[in-house]
Amino acid sequence: MAEKIGFIGLGIMGAPMARNLVEAGYDVTVYNRSRGAVDELEKAGATGASSPREVAGASDVIITMLPDSPQVREVVEDEGGILAGIESGALVVDMSTISPVVTEELAAKIQEAGASMLDAPVSGGDVGAQQGTLSIMVGGSESDFERAKPLFDVMGGTVNHVGPTGAGQVVKAANQVVVALTIEAVSEALVLGSKGGVAPEKVLDVLGGGLAGNKVMEVKREKFLSHDFSPGFRSELHHKDLGIALAAAREYGISLPNTAAVDQMLQTMKKKGWGGEDHSALLRVIEDLSGHEAR
Ligand code: NAD
Repeated sequence: MAEKIGFIGLGIMGAPMARNLVEAGYDVTVYNRSRGAVDELEKAGATGASSPREVAGASDVIITMLPDSPQVREVVEDEGGILAGIESGALVVDMSTISPVVTEELAAKIQEAGASMLDAPVSGGDVGAQQGTLSIMVGGSESDFERAKPLFDVMGGTVNHVGPTGAGQVVKAANQVVVALTIEAVSEALVLGSKGGVAPEKVLDVLGGGLAGNKVMEVKREKFLSHDFSPGFRSELHHKDLGIALAAAREYGISLPNTAAVDQMLQTMKKKGWGGEDHSALLRVIEDLSGHEAR
């Protein structure tokens, strides 16, 4: 018999992911802090619950898709949380992007309760969540990975088991470092080129054909050129993700100097009221520092 699924956190990402599981024929019990999102999923065929504890009691596999470490901790550990209702043998799959250090702590507590946990953060954004084409990077045991694989195949297009508990979050943090630093580098190139009298589209065309070419230039091209920075991926979420990378770096005793610099730029964006804009709006920071718009 197919496993019963619980899904907690029905936001931009979680709602379409849960809907895809319902459409694939799974029996899905859902919970979200605000009730509206639960009502929407009930219309799609899911069963609503009134707490994470109730979700855990009704499910073999419990998926979480929440903003950050404190929310995942709360949903797992609080009085009405997953640990209060979890059955022995159940599997928790946290697909949020959170700290690998917190992941390891929570996995240990879940194991004490006779259950187990995978960390399975994603990339691919809201479009990937809707289309079921997310890239999913998974940390945890091989047997838990195999157990969850049919669910990952519904939600994702590229599914990789990358190592033990926490490894999925480590790979996601590495991904977020490269994406942020690339956006920042392209932004510097655009401002340099434009101030020197070369149109931004020319800069992107020419750089795109050589060693400097990258996917950020392709995917964010229209945003850079139009300066329409509607999200996409909100810069405040990317700020959270670099915070995770920097906290892990501190814990591991390593240096990520340029991640620290771009983290400060994302902090500035929040203060300037640009935190809700797409992360490609890092271009605005470089423009602001330079007193020149790359138009
Ligand atoms: P979101 O803010 O749209 O959704 C989070 C949901 O969790 C909301 O519906 C909120 O009501 C709910 N929630 C918050 N606290 C809760 C609690 N204590 N109990 C129950 N529900 C609670 O965020 P999102 O964009 O869906 O992102 C979710 C995670 O996925 C984040 O970690 C984010 O970094 C990551 N992510 C997002 C994207 C993207 O493009 N948006 C891409 C990759 C990864």
